[in-house]
Amino acid sequence: MVQHRWNRVLIFKVFNREDAEHILNIPISLAERGDSLVWKHCKTGQYTVASGYKHLQQEKRKRREESNKREGCSYQQTDRKLWKALWKLPIKYELKFFVWKCINNGIPTKAQIFHRRQRGDSICCGCGEKEESIEHTLLQCKTAKGIWKFALVNWDGLEDQTGCFKQWWTSMMTHARTKKEGDDHIALTVNVLWRIWNSRNARMFNSIQQHPLKVSEKAAKEWKEYQEAIQQRPRRSTTETIRQEENNQREQTDSEVVTLKLATQHQNGNKSFGIGITAVNDARQGIAA
Ligand SMILES: [Zn+2]
Repeated sequence: MVQHRWNRVLIFKVFNREDAEHILNIPISLAERGDSLVWKHCKTGQYTVASGYKHLQQEKRKRREESNKREGCSYQQTDRKLWKALWKLPIKYELKFFVWKCINNGIPTKAQIFHRRQRGDSICCGCGEKEESIEHTLLQCKTAKGIWKFALVNWDGLEDQTGCFKQWWTSMMTHARTKKEGDDHIALTVNVLWRIWNSRNARMFNSIQQHPLKVSEKAAKEWKEYQEAIQQRPRRSTTETIRQEENNQREQTDSEVVTLKLATQHQNGNKSFGIGITAVNDARQGIAA
């Protein structure tokens, strides 16, 4: 100290730049009091175990909030990418929303209804062995595997990803992109998933057992028909032209933030359980339901 001021030259000479700046920011007592230790997290300046504990808890909470904020942002970004990629696929809109519901756990499987409403049981009606989650129904159940066996697409290499549909879907998309005609692989895959779910509904609600080969063939047929319809678009009718224009408008939402709202309804004494998803863009316009 020189004349009630820090000796800047000496401080910069002895300490590194960062420490020196910290020291120079310490106010100097005008009353020329001697140095003393002060605990700044307590009004009295005296350290107590309680104030130390309180400070640590506050720091912990702050770190957790910051981490949650970061994770929330990256989650939203991942979802937006998934939605964008899904939206661009050459498949029907109802199939796009079906996949989106699978990704977001919005399909009314038995496990879903049981855990949300505590109604019925959660056991798969296909094998009667495991809980009927969306992953089990579409990827793990032996009835689903039977259908996949006849499918023209093969995702056996993703067996270890089937515990989470979103993870499986993301890996499948990545793998498909490495293949020639990757979009066709993905589109056919969606048709197979859709047919597996429909065959589950036929079994559950109408007691109809569909042969796995037939289910797989139907998926391939629907996929092929839609591809052909897309290729024939230049010769489409007026109605189809209007539809295409609507589609183009919808496709422009790629760069927009799309908010999806999920609603569920269950009627007492009735087995039916409904899940609805509506999509709203930035301008608050409903773009799909
Ligand atoms: Zn099963």
